[in-house]
Amino acid sequence: PVMINSGSDTINDFEVSLSSAAEDVDADCLSRSQQYMYRKKEYHFPLSKAFSGALARYTRMHSQCCVWNNGLADHGHDEKEAVGGCQYVVYQEGYEGLGNRLLSLVAAFAYALVTNRALVIDTTRGHLAQLLCEPFPNYYYGEKDKKMKNNHDNNNISTATSPTWLLPSQLANGVHQQAVTLEEAMAAQFVNVTAVHVNLRHEQTVGDQQFFCSETQQGLQKVAWVIWESNQYYVPRLFMLREFWTMKLHPWFPDVSRVFTQLGRVLCVPRNAVWHTIQHVHKAEMAWAPSTAQVGIQVRRHAVSDNASFSEVVYRRIVECVVDGGLVPPPMTTTTPQQGTTKVAVLVTSLQSMYYDKMRERWNDAVVQNGESSSRQAQVKFVMVSHEGTEQYSLNQARKAMVEIWLLSLCNDALATSSWSTFGYVAQALAGMHPRILNIRGEHPELDEPVLSACSRGQSPEPCLHYPFTSSSSSSPACQATTASAGVAPAARMAPNSSDV
Ligand code: GDP
Repeated sequence: PVMINSGSDTINDFEVSLSSAAEDVDADCLSRSQQYMYRKKEYHFPLSKAFSGALARYTRMHSQCCVWNNGLADHGHDEKEAVGGCQYVVYQEGYEGLGNRLLSLVAAFAYALVTNRALVIDTTRGHLAQLLCEPFPNYYYGEKDKKMKNNHDNNNISTATSPTWLLPSQLANGVHQQAVTLEEAMAAQFVNVTAVHVNLRHEQTVGDQQFFCSETQQGLQKVAWVIWESNQYYVPRLFMLREFWTMKLHPWFPDVSRVFTQLGRVLCVPRNAVWHTIQHVHKAEMAWAPSTAQVGIQVRRHAVSDNASFSEVVYRRIVECVVDGGLVPPPMTTTTPQQGTTKVAVLVTSLQSMYYDKMRERWNDAVVQNGESSSRQAQVKFVMVSHEGTEQYSLNQARKAMVEIWLLSLCNDALATSSWSTFGYVAQALAGMHPRILNIRGEHPELDEPVLSACSRGQSPEPCLHYPFTSSSSSSPACQATTASAGVAPAARMAPNSSDV
């Protein structure tokens, strides 16, 4: 049976709607329900009644609006028209890391929910359709494995012209549509505008930034298709729009630190093939004995010149953080026979293997040196799944990233993630856990030594908002009328991972 939150006292509407959609839904996507077998009860987080109702309504709307028959709209409407008055958000997958893609996908879904739009993913480029279950019918559309002509370089988007995109109804003849930019739509006062491309990537024009203004949102109500291009997490910015947070987001998510956790567990769940790998590794490595404590350490270096190299300073900081913070027993810890031996599985994810190698050696050496007493030592087993060396944009690497993000998210006892890493944000948010945030960023982490501790406790499991709204910020100009004066939403006070923002 499908249980979105098996810890829930009540079976909510959304659970019922999925359950009644037949056991097949579960069979097609085992991770959706089975993930809760691996999560401690305190990390189940049942949906609020308001949100489960909203999700059930969304599911019905999505099913009605996303009906394309072999690529042709099944409604007899003009192709450019929204089907039967429906409105859509089309998520365009970017050429970047999986963490960025999942963050922006969840933000797009939050936007779709608050604006009553159906979210669909154009699978013409990218890998998500091969990694993630399909949460709603006809959620994916596009020409698999066919690169669409667009004006993207890897990380360099020109916002002057929007990329072309494909209407679901035009799949059959492959005609690409041109969406207008947000600036162009605003200049036309949204009159006769069918599709707007919103650029919410890390580099934006002043026009792009008007997206989070009430007037812009009013204008967009007239537009059938919003083409969502982003690599960032913007849910806190949605909370800052009064119309969204008072009526919707706040009632749905009374605890603002659970938004990604709950949306991500609907949207970012692995397909069966990926899930089987996760289960296999978990069983063999993370839960090799009953009541093994599980700790995840995510090491992500963003230094430009030594991305692939090992840093002694970084290694020292990681060990200091996890040992002093009580996440991992120190190499020499012994346990009394009465207590039995503590068993700890420590998953280390990193592009490089050296951090894992060094930790494993150090703990193993301590066992050897302690001879007889080693039998009473805490058993600490280090686990590494892959070490890819460098970041690449490939399905294979994305699959490994998915496996490791999920394994981290199933570490029920403690997580240490790297500051400014979207890979780590997704893991901690799926886990619903306050991580320790490792201060290992930058070219010369040793320069931080006198200033920063090795790590700090994250204030929230939520991903970091990299571009917070401040009315005085030059990179984020205030809206013409005003969003800021609309009151202080809970999210405005939320400072997830505040040491990193
Ligand atoms: P960010 O760059 O840390 O914000 O995270 P992203 O996920 O957006 O991009 C980094 C990409 O590099 C990932 O998606 C992976 O493809 C790869 N990568 C980085 N760290 C790891 C890791 O620990 N394990 C694996 N398997 N891949 C990683």
